[in-house]
Amino acid sequence: MVQWNMILGIFLVIFCLRIILRFTLTQLNIRQVCKKGHIVPAVFRGIIDDETLGHMSDYTVDSSRFTSVTTIFGDVLFLIILLSGILPWYTRHIADIHWHFIPSGLLFMAGPAVIGFILDIPFDIYGTFVIEKRYGFSTITAKLWITDLLKNLILSIVLTGLLLSAFLALVYYAERTWWFWGWLLFALFQLVMLWIYPILIAPLFNTYEPVKNEELREKIVDLMAEAGLRAKGVFQVDSGKRSRHTNAYFTGFGKTKRVVLFDTLIASHSIDEILSVFAHEIGHWKKKHIIKQLIAIETVSFFLFYIAYRLIDWAPLYHTFGFDRITPYVGIFLISAYLKPVSFFFRPLLSSLSRKYEREADDYSLSLIGTTAHLADALKRLAKDNLANLYPHPLYAWFYYSHPPLTERVSYLERRNGKGNVDL
Ligand SMILES: [Zn+2]
Repeated sequence: MVQWNMILGIFLVIFCLRIILRFTLTQLNIRQVCKKGHIVPAVFRGIIDDETLGHMSDYTVDSSRFTSVTTIFGDVLFLIILLSGILPWYTRHIADIHWHFIPSGLLFMAGPAVIGFILDIPFDIYGTFVIEKRYGFSTITAKLWITDLLKNLILSIVLTGLLLSAFLALVYYAERTWWFWGWLLFALFQLVMLWIYPILIAPLFNTYEPVKNEELREKIVDLMAEAGLRAKGVFQVDSGKRSRHTNAYFTGFGKTKRVVLFDTLIASHSIDEILSVFAHEIGHWKKKHIIKQLIAIETVSFFLFYIAYRLIDWAPLYHTFGFDRITPYVGIFLISAYLKPVSFFFRPLLSSLSRKYEREADDYSLSLIGTTAHLADALKRLAKDNLANLYPHPLYAWFYYSHPPLTERVSYLERRNGKGNVDL
């Protein structure tokens, strides 16, 4: 039975504060859109008309409400799993099988994951086939959706299975130092994933090929040479088979690093606009943003692993959640359940770091191309094509946004470009 004590009390307060904060931020954001979402911001006049703006506001409201419902459902489900006594019951049955520690641990971790996976399916279907379709984004067929689901399932079973097995082995065999080796294992796994993702995993879902448009390709190669990068790794991806959303991103590590442009982006933007987006991506590349972000995350995770080590033998933690004995794999689950809601409150730190990097990449694009006009035009078109929210609530944007809000970003670019006073 779950014990109603201080440990549970603190957990529930943090968990509920997270629910309240998430819900309040979303409501503030929706209210902001409803209040201002009918006035086209000055920098978007001439690009976005009243009708499109109406679509943008409706899309923001619909998708925010849907995300809110999904998140609250997930939270309630998690509390039920954690507090109903089902996990101690499940653990006793696993113990009865008398398997080794590693397969027992895998079976334990698989239980909640399978429930989550199955219950997530209806939400994913609604999001993809109702909301995304309503706004003309979704192009995915039912067949492709099912294939994606199965591929994702197999991949997560294989990768998570391998990673967790290795981690559980460390916990079992390196009683005093597992937290350090475990941290190193997860950090290396992330690095290896970063390295193999573009060449082994992403191609399972999409076709990646060198950019087809010859003029664009030549100009990209020139731009890369100008930036001092070797001219390889510029791909276009057939993202249009799933969605009409447009984007470009930088991925990979070491020899696999590459820039990927969505085919939908290539189809709807001018060459100058694409080059300015590309220059922004080169900015991330040159300024080593991925590695810097990874170092920040790994530093935090180093301390989290140590905290887990200090808590794993702490019997009151187990008793609070209804477990009658100390079982390290249960401990890992409980500690991560406890720390996850806490980490939510640190989100603004990561978001603001990411926004800083985005501004640096925008500045780099300006220094490489000599004008921000094309990047500003590209962002306006991206905003329009993706029905972006032009009026996020400042608090919502501060908390969640990995990029500066679009209106602020475009205004900044246009200011920097103003009347030839470009500061290169
Ligand atoms: Zn960026």
